[in-house]
Amino acid sequence: MLKIGCHLSVSKGFYEMGKEAVKIDANTIQFFTRNPRGGAAKPIDEEDVKKFLELAKEHKIESLLAHAPYTLNAAALDESIREFAKNTMEDDLKRMEYFPNSYYNFHPGSHVKQGVEVGTNYIVDMLNSILKENQSTLVLLETMAGKGSEIGRTFEEIKTIIDRVKLNNHLGVCLDTCHIFDGGYDIVNNLDGVLDEFDKVIGLDRLKAIHLNDSLNTLGSHKDRHAKIGEGNIGIEALARVINHPKLRDLPFFLETPNDLEGYGKEIKLLRSLYKE
Ligand code: FE
Ligand code: FE
Ligand code: ZN
Repeated sequence: MLKIGCHLSVSKGFYEMGKEAVKIDANTIQFFTRNPRGGAAKPIDEEDVKKFLELAKEHKIESLLAHAPYTLNAAALDESIREFAKNTMEDDLKRMEYFPNSYYNFHPGSHVKQGVEVGTNYIVDMLNSILKENQSTLVLLETMAGKGSEIGRTFEEIKTIIDRVKLNNHLGVCLDTCHIFDGGYDIVNNLDGVLDEFDKVIGLDRLKAIHLNDSLNTLGSHKDRHAKIGEGNIGIEALARVINHPKLRDLPFFLETPNDLEGYGKEIKLLRSLYKE
């Protein structure tokens, strides 16, 4: 069965979020750990989490993916900004243990004119200081479009980070279809070639989740603007090949398309109809 969900808001609590997932036939969920622009996280309501986990079990909702606030920049020039990213992620990872064996996704960071090497060093240092031997959460590096000075726009940049982190058994990759398309990987005409490249550079065993988005921009545009499924330059045929690809079809897929709940429900229904059981 296709494992598909979308980005949902946790502002009304985890249990309410779970009920929304059930309503739209999602069997996985992505959520922000806190306000996407950063800021303090709400304290965990244990009763709410317990009710959510029961609901998730009942409806076979699996592979939860928490997304770090997208404003975090572990590669920033300003030390206080790097410190903030570290403290936030460290706190998020502690909270994630309420949801055992889940995923935590983050954007590697932007080097802001310091160069990829300096930025990469900061990201590696941060991961080396916050990953814990006994954590159950797998931390995912997201592939980026290469907008501005984003690190992670090539598979090589992701691989360099993974290689230099000591506890990299706790690291994986989340592949965003809009980002890699905007980054110049032609998943429309050469999905097999792109996956071979991923396997050669990083290793497909590191690939744990897919952000399934269409793109408003063209191949190699380095822009990062998501479109609804079938309404962008990737298109429905190419996205159907992504969910059905033998090397991808068992992974969890997360929609981050510009939609309300009803729109997400329609996309999930459409993609389920295109999935070959
Ligand atoms: Fe993201
Ligand atoms: Fe994404
Ligand atoms: Zn994006």
